[in-house]
Amino acid sequence: MKNVAVIGAGTMGNGIAHTFAQSGFKVQLIDISESSLKRGMDTIAKNLDRMVAKEKITEADKQTTLANITTFTDVSEGVEYASLVVEAATENIDLKLKIFKQLDEACPEDTILATNTSSISITQIAAVTSRPDMVIGMHFMNPVPIMKLVEIIRGYNTSDEVTNTIMELSKTLGKIPTEVNDYPGFVANRILMPMINESIETLYNGVAGVEEIDTVMKLGMAHPMGPLQLADFIGLDVCLSILNVMYDGFKNPKYAPCPLLVNMVRAGKLGVKSGEGFYDYSESRKAEHISKQFQK
Ligand code: NAD
Repeated sequence: MKNVAVIGAGTMGNGIAHTFAQSGFKVQLIDISESSLKRGMDTIAKNLDRMVAKEKITEADKQTTLANITTFTDVSEGVEYASLVVEAATENIDLKLKIFKQLDEACPEDTILATNTSSISITQIAAVTSRPDMVIGMHFMNPVPIMKLVEIIRGYNTSDEVTNTIMELSKTLGKIPTEVNDYPGFVANRILMPMINESIETLYNGVAGVEEIDTVMKLGMAHPMGPLQLADFIGLDVCLSILNVMYDGFKNPKYAPCPLLVNMVRAGKLGVKSGEGFYDYSESRKAEHISKQFQK
């Protein structure tokens, strides 16, 4: 396996492209948005610069990694030689089904189709392709170049051979793959998202402010980052989509997203990527908390 296509150059897509390119793969990075591609490539270059500064890689490694990545704006372009496609487009079921239909038509018949979805059913995505045995979940964690875990999700029809190939491939990227089954939220988000949602509910109920909630969880539970800040890093729109998938999938009100989360996403406050979420990420108020306006 030498050629990998990555669909989506956002938070996760650029990290996935970076990780494969640094491990010597030729990567076709595809996004419908020119500006996302530019931002994605800038992020990769900045992250590589940081690694050079810390002497983890050399300047030559950085240049080789960047040279391994080519960008495209059309999903069917750049996939014709791919042995593997990793889809990391926006967390939206209709969009993912459309992309997988397109990929199934455009890719060679032995290309493995993986999705980085946080919660959407692998089995449902696989069902729109003619190769459900070759569709698998490859759930990287954010930030991808640093985080070791890859949650490998077997759909109902995913073959043993494809699962083994992807488990081994993840190890060659320096990751630790963990195999799980295909139920809403898989393992990571089934446990993480209710905690984030409850933190937002705690804020919404006026029990405490942003910083206080994050401090309790950081110092009290030894979490490296508070849940509200983590939500900002994940993207509040992504958190909302995942909660909705679990709410619909289990028909259990315990997964119902907090109305404050819904409102913030409607207002375009998506966290780090939009410059504001529970914290303000604008240059002038870098990561300052803005808690009062959230309370009921
Ligand atoms: P993002 O919003 O940062 O990026 C999504 C990108 O997809 C955007 O650049 C957008 O232009 C692009 N896109 C939209 N439609 C497209 C299409 N038809 N073809 C190609 N590109 C298209 O989102 P993200 O946070 O990177 O999430 C991507 C996926 O990864 C989602 O499925 C999400 O659930 C999953 N995920 C996210 C995180 C996280 O921490 N953010 C962690 C693990 C998994």
